[in-house]
Amino acid sequence: MRGGTVAVVGGSIAGCAFASAAARAGAGEVVVLERTHGRLADRGLGLCVHNDRAAELAATGALPTGIARHRLDRRRWVVWDAAEPSGRVFWEQPFPFHSYHWGLLWRGLREATPASVVYRQGATVTGVAGVGDQAEVRLAGGAVERCDLVVGADGYRSLVREAVCPESRPHYAGYVCWRGNFDAGRLAAAGDGDWPSEAVTTVCFPGGSCVIYRIPGPDGPRVNWVLYAMPPQSGQLRFDDPTSFPPGKVTGELAACLSELLDREFPPYWARVIALTEPEDTFVQPIYDLETARTTAGRFLLAGDAATVVRPHNTSGAAKALQDASAFEAAWRQAGSWEELLYAYQAARGAAGRELVALARRLGRAQVEQTPAWATMNHMEAQSWWQGQLAGAADIGGQAMTP
Ligand SMILES: Cc1cc2nc3c(=O)[nH]c(=O)nc-3n(C[C@H](O)[C@H](O)[C@H](O)COP(=O)(O)OP(=O)(O)OC[C@H]3O[C@@H](n4cnc5c(N)ncnc54)[C@H](O)[C@@H]3O)c2cc1C
Repeated sequence: MRGGTVAVVGGSIAGCAFASAAARAGAGEVVVLERTHGRLADRGLGLCVHNDRAAELAATGALPTGIARHRLDRRRWVVWDAAEPSGRVFWEQPFPFHSYHWGLLWRGLREATPASVVYRQGATVTGVAGVGDQAEVRLAGGAVERCDLVVGADGYRSLVREAVCPESRPHYAGYVCWRGNFDAGRLAAAGDGDWPSEAVTTVCFPGGSCVIYRIPGPDGPRVNWVLYAMPPQSGQLRFDDPTSFPPGKVTGELAACLSELLDREFPPYWARVIALTEPEDTFVQPIYDLETARTTAGRFLLAGDAATVVRPHNTSGAAKALQDASAFEAAWRQAGSWEELLYAYQAARGAAGRELVALARRLGRAQVEQTPAWATMNHMEAQSWWQGQLAGAADIGGQAMTP
C-alpha cells in the first residue's frame, strides 16, 4: 500500500519511530503532533535495552546506529550489612543490556526520521473522532485536520486511547518510584565503594528496591537510579489518576520520605551516592499498569505506552515501542488496504503487550509489594525466586519479535 496521510499524536520514542516507519513504508504525508514546546532532548532519564532486542531493532531499522549507549553486563543484588559500608552482595546475575540517556536516544530517533516527515511542536491534540473512513484530529486553538490514520503515540495518559479502548485506564500499582541522575564525576564525593562501570546494583530492603547504573550523557557519563517504595500514607497524595512530580516539583513530603528511606534502609555508601543528586534532577513517578483489549479501532492505532503501560522493572518500554513501530512497518508493507494494515498490527502486537504487563506486575509484586527475606537468601534461593517471577518468560527486557 502506498500513499495516504498519517497523523502521529506524540513525538517521543514511539512517535518518532512510527513516523519513520510510516514514511519508509510509503505513506504520502506524515505529520507528528507534539504538544511540548521546548527541547525534548533535555529529558535526562536513563533506560536500558536488552542486547538481543537492540540487535533485532537495528536490523529492522527501528533503532538507528550511532546512538550513545553504555554497556552493562551484570546485576548485583545488595543488602544492608553492618560490616560492609557498600552492603553485601547476595546474588549476581548476567545483565546483557546497554543503557541509554533518554534525550540522546530521542535525538537519534528524531534525526533519523526522513525529511518528508513534518514534526510540529507546540501542537496539542484535544480530541480525535472517526469520520466515515477517515479520522479527524482537533488541535488546541480550534483547527481540525483530517487524515487516513491516527497513530496514538501519546503515552500513558493517551487521549487517542479513548477512541480505541475507552474502558482501559491506568491502574495505580500502590507504590511510586523516585528517580534521579547526576554527573558520574561526582561519585568520588561518595567515598570508597566505587563499582565496576558495567555493573548494575540493586539495593534491596523490606518493601522496596533501588536500581543504580551508569548511562551516557550529553557531557559525559552519568549515574542513574530508580528507587521503588510505598509513598507516605498521609492521605494528601492521591495517585488514582495518572500523575507525576517532574524534576524540581517533588513535594517536601516525598523528599523527606526519600531521605528517611536512605537513612533507614540503605548501606551507607549507596545512601551517599543517591544523595549526590540535585533536587532539580530528582522526580517521582507513581507506578501504573495498563493493558488494552484492542490496539486498533476504526482508523486509530495505539503505540508504545499508549497501548500498554508496563511497570519499569521489566526494562522493556523503549524496546517495546520500537518493536511496535517495526511491526507496523512490516504490516504496512504487506497490506493492500488500511483494514489489512490495522488487522495485522493488532494481531502482531496485542497479546505481546499484555504479556509484558503481566510479567512486570509479577516483578513489581516480588521486588516491592511482597519483598522476600533478601538478607537471608543464598545464591540458589535468589535464582529460584527470580525464575518464579519470570514464570516461563525467557528474560526481562521484552520478547523476541519472532520466536
Ligand atoms: C521509572 C521508569 C523507568 C523506565 N525504564 C525503562 C528501561 O530501562 N527500559 C525501557 O525500555 N523503558 C523504560 N521505561 C519506559 C519508557 O520510557 C517508555 O515505555 C518509552 O519511552 C515509550 O514511551 P512513548 O513514546 O510511548 O510515550 P511517552 O514517552 O510518554 O511520549 C508521549 C508523548 O506524547 C506527547 N503527548 C501526550 N499527549 C499529547 C497530546 N494530547 N497532544 C500532543 N502530544 C501529546 C507527550 O508530550 C510525549 O512527548 C521506563 C519508564 C519509567 C517510568
